[in-house]
Amino acid sequence: MKLIPADTNVLTLSVDDPANPTQSSVVVPGDGGKHVITLRGHGTVSPPKGIQVLSYNADTNAFLGSVFQGVVAPYRFWQVHKFEIGDAARNINPGTTPTTTELVGELNRIFRTQANIEFGALDRGLVNAFDWDKDRDGKMHFAKHWDDPAFVENYEAGPLHNYITQTVDTPPSPLSGQPWTIYLYYVNNFDNDSTEGLTVLGKDHREIPSLVKTNYSQVLGGGVSLTSFMSNLTAHEMGHKLGLPHPPVDRTRLMNYFNPGNALFKAQNIPCRLVMKEWKTANLP
Ligand SMILES: [Zn+2]
Repeated sequence: MKLIPADTNVLTLSVDDPANPTQSSVVVPGDGGKHVITLRGHGTVSPPKGIQVLSYNADTNAFLGSVFQGVVAPYRFWQVHKFEIGDAARNINPGTTPTTTELVGELNRIFRTQANIEFGALDRGLVNAFDWDKDRDGKMHFAKHWDDPAFVENYEAGPLHNYITQTVDTPPSPLSGQPWTIYLYYVNNFDNDSTEGLTVLGKDHREIPSLVKTNYSQVLGGGVSLTSFMSNLTAHEMGHKLGLPHPPVDRTRLMNYFNPGNALFKAQNIPCRLVMKEWKTANLP
């Protein structure tokens, strides 16, 4: 069977050659085996509409019908500013964090592959000169409601964020001047034991940092390193940042709700799947 996109300026493909999905027509062997078809988009369509892929008999060129459609989502780019947060006055260190290379690899494994959304990351280094640990428990306190500017509830994470955006950054902060910027803080631990990462849902809240913890008492196994687990957890938080909520339990999906402290679960699963509804949401402006 021969496959030809209805518009080869917008969509090309390959069979069993994922590195080169640049063909305007391909032949799928009728050998009873499984063959992988890879699509590449060459244009932007907004809102996304499908480009039909038409099928023909490879020998006679007889038209067989439309077999599926490819969707070309517009290219999106986000840049994560990665900070490691300590508190030197309380002798709090941030712990081991993923490198920006590892982090970007995981973010793009998930978002670039499935949603045409690319991530970069800047290593902004260690910030430990601000004494945010007001209640002196050695852990970051946060509230799910970002109550700026008073920060009555967010009395630790809030003032820390002000310090970073107003003192560490030379004003104006990239958060206000560069609309593709997201701030990510790796902290040693949260005072809420069941929380591993925190993000206020949606791109509307881009200027609120995402927080991810680095201290896990459970030992990971199954070939999953702590930094790869944290990279995956960070990708989950970035999913929230792009507007994705938790789905019903499905351990193949990136946005599945993690089971805190469940070592077996952590060891076996760094889920990546985005369903169509999710990549459409993540692609909204
Ligand atoms: Zn979540």
